Amino acid sequence: MSDRVDSILELLTVEEKVSLCSGFGPWSTKKIERLGVEPVFMSDGPHGARWMKTQSYTTRAQWDMSSLASFTTKSGYLDLLHPVTNFPSLATLGSSWNRELIYEVGKSIGEECRELGIGLLLAPGVNIVRHPLCGRAYEYFSEDPVVAGEMGAHYIMGVQSTGIGATVKHFVCNNAEFERLSMDSVVEERALREIYLATFERIVKNAKPSMVMESYNKVNGTSLVENRRLLTDILKKEWGFEGAVISDWWAVNDRVDSFNAGMDLEMPQNAFNDDLLLKGAKEGSVSMEQLDDSCRRILGLVVKYASLEKVKADYAAHHAIARRAAGESIVLLKNEDDALPLGKDSKIAVIGSFAEAPRYQGLGCSIVNPRELLGPLAEIEKKAADVTYAPGYDEDHNTNAELLAESVNVAKTAGCVILFAGLPEHLETETHDREDYNIPGSHVRLIEAVSSANPNTVVVLQNGSAVAMSPWMDRVPAIVEAWLGGEAGAGAIADVLFGDVNPSGKLAVTFPERIEDIPGYLNFPGENGKHVYSEGIFVGYRYYEKKDIKPTFPFGYGLSYTQFQYSGIKLDKDTMTNEDSLKVSFTVTNTGDRAGKEIAQLYVKPYGSRLKRPVKELKEFTKIHLEPGMSKVVEFTLDNRDFAYYDDYHQEWVVDSGTYTINVGASSADIRLSADLEIESNQVVFTPLTGESYCYNLVDNPHALAAFKDIMMRNGLWAEDVSDEFIEAIRHNFIPLFKSITRQTGGKVRREEFDSWMDEVNAKALEAMKK
Ligand code: BGC
Repeated sequence: MSDRVDSILELLTVEEKVSLCSGFGPWSTKKIERLGVEPVFMSDGPHGARWMKTQSYTTRAQWDMSSLASFTTKSGYLDLLHPVTNFPSLATLGSSWNRELIYEVGKSIGEECRELGIGLLLAPGVNIVRHPLCGRAYEYFSEDPVVAGEMGAHYIMGVQSTGIGATVKHFVCNNAEFERLSMDSVVEERALREIYLATFERIVKNAKPSMVMESYNKVNGTSLVENRRLLTDILKKEWGFEGAVISDWWAVNDRVDSFNAGMDLEMPQNAFNDDLLLKGAKEGSVSMEQLDDSCRRILGLVVKYASLEKVKADYAAHHAIARRAAGESIVLLKNEDDALPLGKDSKIAVIGSFAEAPRYQGLGCSIVNPRELLGPLAEIEKKAADVTYAPGYDEDHNTNAELLAESVNVAKTAGCVILFAGLPEHLETETHDREDYNIPGSHVRLIEAVSSANPNTVVVLQNGSAVAMSPWMDRVPAIVEAWLGGEAGAGAIADVLFGDVNPSGKLAVTFPERIEDIPGYLNFPGENGKHVYSEGIFVGYRYYEKKDIKPTFPFGYGLSYTQFQYSGIKLDKDTMTNEDSLKVSFTVTNTGDRAGKEIAQLYVKPYGSRLKRPVKELKEFTKIHLEPGMSKVVEFTLDNRDFAYYDDYHQEWVVDSGTYTINVGASSADIRLSADLEIESNQVVFTPLTGESYCYNLVDNPHALAAFKDIMMRNGLWAEDVSDEFIEAIRHNFIPLFKSITRQTGGKVRREEFDSWMDEVNAKALEAMKK
């Protein structure tokens, strides 16, 4: 392939090279007829292949049709798009914690792209769910970089197994929609590395996506589109990314600056910027080396994805995968006295108009036209013989005395109620953040009225991200978080309600009790152009655990209709160095009487670290299927990075010596097994001493102290037999070293001389520490 790329590259004129670096129309690269360079077509995901029926754009108005189809699911607009399988949203799939399943979802979407002639899918979005009110939170997997990274990587591997290229987006720190085209995400380096970049790093290294889409926002003052450090130094050089960096749509400010920063492909078409780039290339402000590098990356896409043969997709099989995926992602949040599953013979009242017109996808560029949209009411009617229905609220989510009275009457005459509530469509949308953590007041009023009339009320929620539950959750015995389940989500809801599917999803985001509890609460969504991530690394459960705030539902939580027991944790060693790897094994047993799936989670808990760390962090997980009474041994391998933190002073990942506890459990708040490990780290992390270091910095480092003593004695400033008590007294002298020594010696030491002593101390200490 690279031969073909090189041979085309050799023949390109500068004009042609520049033309390759931006799109043609909204959804393709340019063609170069004389060399047989064909365009590659690209299209949004991540919840299905989004493809306009008309692809012959000649006017701006026609392009804008695709935008119109983004902000409503009303059928007039959806009809502009090809009908395809609509899979559950990524936030929904995040709750499945199932790598193989998400691979299959990615593969199915890839296959539908193959049928439609799309070469590159603009998905998945893997931004961290830092705050549940982010308008696009429904499009992102998790608050945790390991879950988001693993799910994203497997989605991409699935897509790319079909010969289609995938795009990981939005790189990076686009964690709110407010003023997203200009907002500056102000993030400390350690949080950037450990939380936000970590997700992308895992994906780029393990799944090798074809493209990375940079985001609209700035990070620490520099727009991503012009951020050479992030795009070139970290993404391309440090992580070895070989694909192309593509701009988010209309993100480019200055084409020459963005090009020099490493932003290869500008989208969509922008003739004005092409002229600027050509001028820059001719005048020398754009280096030829950079131009060749970008063209090589873009031609790599052309060669792979421009001329793929169209292959028919199996939509029936994909619908079945969509239903399975939705079922595995549903989280059973509450199930008092085994209120669920429901008997198929019960007299059932279905209440809430989401049962007829479900929420199944979020608004924005991820909207697709579902081929076979199921409705919860119809799916429940297929399973249960005696079902009555009342809408409870109207299509604008208002309720009134009449609607409530009707619901109460229907509820009273039924054995149990399935009540549908959640977030209306217009609240979960690209370009706008949510303003309220609560579900609409009309839904809460309906829950209150109906649960008073019939305490046997099960609430089914349809929403793309966390909502407040404490105002009403105590009134009902069971709550099912069904998320945005895609076209087959309604079928999956019925499967779970009646026990045909045993729920196995767990939360990949925390559900805090109050909006005020959320780590980013004071800064979300930013002001005066800055969005300060003041919580640093303490995102999601890392924050709630550190602050000892009990959320409504913790990270990793979800119930099943069966029970699982954990036993027999073993570490293959109890002492190791930072260079060794550790094997952890344990057994999970299904002790109930139904087959089910369990998501076992492994957290690492450090003690006595040099820098502040979360109480514990997720490092591994697996989802296993177990028949009743069956057991399985789970084995995980941990290595250096699983114990490390990013030290921004030293600019490296550091593993401290000390004790670590390996915690294994069913959720972050339900740890069932623990074992301790000692790490003796060989890593030398030495912060050079200066006159501004504190006395304890010197005294705490025996090598530095020995070297310093020598110097002091050599200069006759300390006696040969300087006592331990004297040194201990120095340790408690809480003024900086130089000031302390000048005072002790009556000003005999000048700063320049002292600095040269420090150089000697640092060199000797470092040498000794390396031994
Ligand atoms: C979105 C991207 C999307 C692109 C093309 C942008 O507004 O942020 O996620 O891929 O549009 O539709």
